Amino acid sequence: RIVYVNGAYLPEAEARISVFDRGFLFADAVYEVTTVLGGKLIDFRAHMARLDRSLSELKLPTPASHDELLAIHRELAARNGVDEGLIYMQVTRGAADRDFLFPPQDTPPSLVLFTQTMALRDKPAARTGIRVASMPDLRWGRRDIKTVQLLYPSMAKTEAVRRGADDAWLVEDGVVTEGTSNNAHIVTADGTLITRDLSHSILHGITRAAVLRLAADSGLKIEERSFTLDEAKAAKEAFITSASAFVLPVVSIDGAAVGDGAPGPVVRKLREIYIEEAVRTAI
Ligand code: PMP
Repeated sequence: RIVYVNGAYLPEAEARISVFDRGFLFADAVYEVTTVLGGKLIDFRAHMARLDRSLSELKLPTPASHDELLAIHRELAARNGVDEGLIYMQVTRGAADRDFLFPPQDTPPSLVLFTQTMALRDKPAARTGIRVASMPDLRWGRRDIKTVQLLYPSMAKTEAVRRGADDAWLVEDGVVTEGTSNNAHIVTADGTLITRDLSHSILHGITRAAVLRLAADSGLKIEERSFTLDEAKAAKEAFITSASAFVLPVVSIDGAAVGDGAPGPVVRKLREIYIEEAVRTAI
């Protein structure tokens, strides 16, 4: 696999990052994951807008312009022959002597990208749905910033799998925040889509925004508000969204079936129209 590190396209075994890189020592870094379908990028401009927001919230320097980043994404996808998969991009505060104080603003940021080829459109989970286990949300207070501090979500997902589920739904103050790497949504018996409102508590998902737009266009009633785990368990349908999952049905929560325990019509429809729109607008 060819990866990109600070201006160079290299075989992964030759790529180097300093042991003093603050991404490594402090998780002082942000990232984006953009989907490739049919060799083209999904929602690229929205990912770059969120990257800018993450960078500015942490006073991280900008590594390159959006057009330069687009060119790097395309070049890397082409070099690795990615037709369907993901492109991971990380920006760190660069290498500096280890100190909690941020280094001078002119310290060059590190920019790393790699690709992952994988089937996204056609996967068993889209037909069977996934099972989630609830877990307390013990992450930090700025989940709207897409940082690489992913230890707790990683622990939670591992614990969920140990319990026989596929992922965790994180719960705080009695309400669901989101999945470990996706946004969480439910559909009530009267067909209303309920999704957590945006705040510092959750990541502002690019896929969430696209799906809400499409759901509104197709006449679905939407409520952006918190929902409890009990509300989710009593819902007719439940689902997650993310750049890599698109829209995936959730068929059980803590072992209790959601609806009749199979993917429902609203979620199936949302997945279909999301993929159609994503392919149509890819660049
Ligand atoms: N929440 C969290 C915590 C995530 O890590 C992700 C995926 N990066 C999402 C939500 C979904 O965001 P997106 O639709 O932009 O992939």
